[in-house]
Amino acid sequence: MLECFSCKGIYPDIDGPTHRYMESSPGCWQMYSEILSREYSDQSYWKSHRLTVDSYAVQHPGTESNQSIQSVAVHLMSLYFIIEEGKSHEAARKLMGKATKLKFQWLEPPKCLGEISAKNVWLTENANQHNKTVELWANSAWNAWKKYHTIIREWSKRIECS
Ligand SMILES: [Zn+2]
Repeated sequence: MLECFSCKGIYPDIDGPTHRYMESSPGCWQMYSEILSREYSDQSYWKSHRLTVDSYAVQHPGTESNQSIQSVAVHLMSLYFIIEEGKSHEAARKLMGKATKLKFQWLEPPKCLGEISAKNVWLTENANQHNKTVELWANSAWNAWKKYHTIIREWSKRIECS
């Protein structure tokens, strides 16, 4: 087993592909892919999909590049919208759509990106557990970026009003 250098979850030590800018250990990327397949293949898991993608992205910010800057910004805004504003996943998707047209700045990732990782979700045994754990995961990932909450709120408001 191997600790993912980014989210600090413990994953099988395997060789394999990883994402181009959401950098992770191969084992972590593999488990995330399996979580996504569960969500794509079963409607009762699907309702967590927005939060799953956002949580994974902000726990794997990678290093400063145009794509990482945009990725971290839009996924944090989505988490903000759903968790703090109580908006629907659909509303968050729309906000993200508008956000892709704007430029943001790099937010230097915090050292700890949350105590819950994809591993906790992967270990769940049914849709109910899955959905509950994704919610905890999303909250833990969002809280980890606490020092940027004000700026994320401002960016979101700016987009909403544009
Ligand atoms: Zn990871």
